[in-house]
Amino acid sequence: MDENLKKKLINEKKSGWLEINEEKFNQIFHFCDGYMEFLNHSKTEREFAANARNLAEKNGFQDVNQMQNLKPGDKVYFVNREKSIYLAVIGEQKLENGLHIVGAHIDSPRLDLKPNPLYEEGELAYFNTHYYGGIKKYQWTTIPLSIHGVIIKANGEKITVNIGEDEQDPIFTITDLLPHLAKEQEAKKLRDAIEGENLDLLVGSIPIIDEKEKNKVKLNILKILNEKYGITEEDFVSSELELVPAFKARSLGFDYGMVAAYGQDDKVCSYTALKALMEIEKPQKTAICILSDKEEIGSMGNTGMESHVFDYFISELLNKTGENRPNLLEKVFCYSKMLSSDVDAGFDPLYSSVSDRQNSGYLSKGITLNKYTGARGKSGASDANAEFVAWVRNLLETNQIKYQVSELGKVDVGGGGTIAYILANKGVDVIDCGVPVLSMHAPYEVTSKFDIYEAYRAYKAFWVKD
Ligand code: MN
Ligand code: MN
Repeated sequence: MDENLKKKLINEKKSGWLEINEEKFNQIFHFCDGYMEFLNHSKTEREFAANARNLAEKNGFQDVNQMQNLKPGDKVYFVNREKSIYLAVIGEQKLENGLHIVGAHIDSPRLDLKPNPLYEEGELAYFNTHYYGGIKKYQWTTIPLSIHGVIIKANGEKITVNIGEDEQDPIFTITDLLPHLAKEQEAKKLRDAIEGENLDLLVGSIPIIDEKEKNKVKLNILKILNEKYGITEEDFVSSELELVPAFKARSLGFDYGMVAAYGQDDKVCSYTALKALMEIEKPQKTAICILSDKEEIGSMGNTGMESHVFDYFISELLNKTGENRPNLLEKVFCYSKMLSSDVDAGFDPLYSSVSDRQNSGYLSKGITLNKYTGARGKSGASDANAEFVAWVRNLLETNQIKYQVSELGKVDVGGGGTIAYILANKGVDVIDCGVPVLSMHAPYEVTSKFDIYEAYRAYKAFWVKD
């Protein structure tokens, strides 16, 4: 058969690295250096939201609450309780013609401190934790962990905590049993081997010199915390303290072609979207970027995507662009398009049995589109309409952005949700569109630098398109 005809007929995806020149190669590496640097300072949703706001302000974005009127080209943001942020660049066309939305999430699986975390046992001090999101518990033991978050005192004073990242800081860890004594543990199912209640953080060992006191190590920790932060044990009840891996984002492989880092689900899509938005000037359709919280635990609550705070933000844009008629918000959503930018499970050759090779996302083969998530009968899926998939395909093909279309695992195996369905339920045309990841939800997740750059290009092309 004629080679050209064969090439045209068969949908074969090669590694993206084979299809670029040196200039693009350098652009990819440069972009990912910035990404890794940003990740090292943005491990939690609060840190990411604050850094996103700073970056946006440097690029001419203003708090929407400070604006009386909005006109095409104006750039605004809305920070929702320091944990999520929505940004917009007002388009030439009216909002009622529809928005172009890219939505990602900035929370990642981790361990949270319980409201009353500190205890002493066997003359060691511990913090009790409750894990956040879907984790494999054994992965979170015996690695260096840092503590990030806030403590709010009853008088409203806010103390920001970030300990374990600086080389001078101590780190923390969760211990595990030595192999010699682990016969019973090793015979258990993987998911039962480490109990959630045992994911307790080792935080101290030196007792206070006070003969009468029983819990001398705990008291010493409280004394140190009081000196450092001015807090007492009771102040933990109004804190949000998160344990995240203390290691830094690094290039992975002899060829430096991948990124290994904590929290790439979904900060890889958040960062690429944010960077792309910074370069958007006067788009045709208003460009919206959602960086949401609580995706990993079901998007509930007033900083999650299920809340109406996003609707309020769009209503504010309608009010301030002078478009206000009854029910206009519903119309806006029905005419809008969205890339739900969340990561996809990359094909892992070590665990190939869980994937359908023909319908998997592969590292370095570009941004992955999930027409639908859900499994076992597409249960709970937000299934993008074929017409919209074609529109997105056309956008990507026109801009020579490498993409692949996949499912998350085999039919009876996979699953997993994103924020796609929430916007789809409002009437928006939505497709999941993100970067394939290895070891998703593990303390160290792996992505391809090629895919990261393609994601950035895809989001930018989507916002530029009329
Ligand atoms: Mn995700
Ligand atoms: Mn996730």
